[in-house]
Amino acid sequence: MINPVYRAAEGRYEEMEYRRSGRSGIRLPEISLGLWQNFGDTAPLARSREMLLHAFDNGICHIDLANNYGPSYGSAEATFGKVIESDLRPYRDELFISTKAGWDMWPGPYGDLGSRKYLISSLDQSLKRMKLDYVDIFYSHRYDPDTPLEETLQTLVDIVRSGKALYAGISNYPYEAAEFAYKYLAERDVRCLLHQCKYNIFDREPETDGLLRQAKEAGSGFIAYSPLCQGLLTDRYLNGIPDNSRAAKDFSLKQNRITPELLGKIRDLNNIAAERGQTLAQMALAWDLKDDLVTSVIIGASSLEQLQSNLQAIKNTDFSQEELAAIDEIVKR
Ligand code: NDP
Repeated sequence: MINPVYRAAEGRYEEMEYRRSGRSGIRLPEISLGLWQNFGDTAPLARSREMLLHAFDNGICHIDLANNYGPSYGSAEATFGKVIESDLRPYRDELFISTKAGWDMWPGPYGDLGSRKYLISSLDQSLKRMKLDYVDIFYSHRYDPDTPLEETLQTLVDIVRSGKALYAGISNYPYEAAEFAYKYLAERDVRCLLHQCKYNIFDREPETDGLLRQAKEAGSGFIAYSPLCQGLLTDRYLNGIPDNSRAAKDFSLKQNRITPELLGKIRDLNNIAAERGQTLAQMALAWDLKDDLVTSVIIGASSLEQLQSNLQAIKNTDFSQEELAAIDEIVKR
């Protein structure tokens, strides 16, 4: 069936809140949509399209991708390219689109890690798959201790200068490497726009390792991935492991992580969320956004209903000291 011509919702920017990314001209929606797992060629295109358009209709103008998102590798970008062609092309200038390279993508020594050879050829492939002339931000997806950091970072600078990306970012960089990156990039007038790391109620490394503060002081934004801890910070697993869930695949979210002890914590967090009038997923997203250290949270969703429900998180991102302490208490025990 041919889709009717898509017209974006008139009021699409009315409900969403936007936060400035570090010391830059860019504001990002508090909630961004990531295409890591549910938008590949094993997912129905109609559902992917529906979620992408719903996101855009509700102010989610930042879409996060990477070369190897799928499954299969590359297919999330291909899906996104299809929706660009069918619906979103007229809105390109309203969209902030990311991609990355740094994890394994193709066989051999040039399809992984941090070399100039890999990053540049990967971005060229990504642009073809997404049917774009440029992305808004290109990330080094991980720190590669065996490639001189200057090589990776100079490649980001050159990519920005070439016009294939408007901004540069880093992802999963440890503190020292991030410090070097902020300085190297700033000295070449290509400031780091975002550091992208895992950050949620259970995964606190950006706090404990100082990455949140560091990004703020460097004038970079900080964007949190897996804010729902891949679905653990929702009611998804309270009554077993559903067949269609991420844990059922036992790949990026291992089933043996879901112990009775963890479920006890999730139940108690769920009760705090209920007292706040939120679902656990909404509270987990709100928690990431509780202060100005996080620019945006990148959510994943496997259904329109999840996306719709998660969008409500931004209605209450205020936490009392008692609530924060109670959450910490549950996590630490
Ligand atoms: P989340 O922590 O938001 O987990 C998403 C999953 O949680 C969904 O697929 C779904 O699982 C479940 N879920 C979402 N909403 C609900 C709800 N309301 N109720 C119940 N379950 C829900 O994020 P992801 O781990 O998917 O990561 C988000 C994005 O972050 C990625 O798409 C990617 O763009 C980025 N990312 C970046 C990385 C990096 O190295 N830079 C690494 C990982 C992610 P189910 O499928 O079971 O329904």
